[in-house]
Amino acid sequence: MTEAFKADMITTWKKVPVQPTDEMRDAGNVHVLNRGTLFAAWSDMLRAAPDAPPESVPAELIQGLVGIAAGRIAHVFNGSCPDQVEGENVRDNECPACQILLRVDALN
Ligand SMILES: [Zn+2]
Repeated sequence: MTEAFKADMITTWKKVPVQPTDEMRDAGNVHVLNRGTLFAAWSDMLRAAPDAPPESVPAELIQGLVGIAAGRIAHVFNGSCPDQVEGENVRDNECPACQILLRVDALN
């Protein structure tokens, strides 16, 4: 199976518990008579599952980035904000604009 074909097969994602709940076990036992087989299958399926895509960016974080871009939220420029001298990857933990950038950095 090609990676592109696998990607096409995945249309939606749903978070599931690592240990199946009683309701999940009951639903699976309809198809499998041996509960041990069901647990082994569940465990193997979770181990083989692809990584989920990253979570979407929270709307309030996007609004923060818009605030920086529009000038409503400014860098304090006390020495550690991104600029042409320090580079674009430095952050000042005390700066409101940098705090937003730090949250964006954490998504990657
Ligand atoms: Zn800053």
